Amino acid sequence: MSKTIGVLALQGDYAKHAEVIRKLKYDTLFVRDITALKKCDALIIPGGESTTFLNLIDKLGLRKPLMEFGREKAIMGTCAGLIILAAKTDGLNFEPLKLIDLEVSRNAYGRQIDSFVADIELKINGAPARFEGVFIRAPKIVKVSPDVQPLAYYGDDIVMAANKNILVATFHPELTENLYIHNYFLTKFVS
Ligand code: GLN
Repeated sequence: MSKTIGVLALQGDYAKHAEVIRKLKYDTLFVRDITALKKCDALIIPGGESTTFLNLIDKLGLRKPLMEFGREKAIMGTCAGLIILAAKTDGLNFEPLKLIDLEVSRNAYGRQIDSFVADIELKINGAPARFEGVFIRAPKIVKVSPDVQPLAYYGDDIVMAANKNILVATFHPELTENLYIHNYFLTKFVS
């Protein structure tokens, strides 16, 4: 049976992720409540504004269901999605979901270059030599615990990392033509 990949659709650029999932021939579902979440085999938390996201997650009673989901099923978080999944972050009035043991700093690239496109280096066997990272008011991963594996770098900065079932990126793979990262998530973490 084909797997259903949910995209948390409370806010942010969820539609783009769903497009990529459809291109990779998986079923996708916009998740806005517990009923939809229960139908999913994996979930994507998109970029957007982490404060707004967490506010809505709490208002809709999704915090506990999401934490339970992320203890066993695969979740990919990009940009604000990463902030939401982190163990610790600065500048946020909400507790993140603590599903991956790393620490982030929000908007850490500053105002001048708060959005930019740059080549990143993927540390995955068989990965393309060149991958374009789209960074939009991106957070920085400032600390990772030993059970978290760095998977990509921009200079010295870790820009993608994973534990056994949670994959996070500080950039937006859904905004590039290259489907490698979504495909990696689906083949390594979901199927
Ligand atoms: N700066 C945003 C935040 O702190 C994240 C930006 C993004 O998701 N593109 O939530």
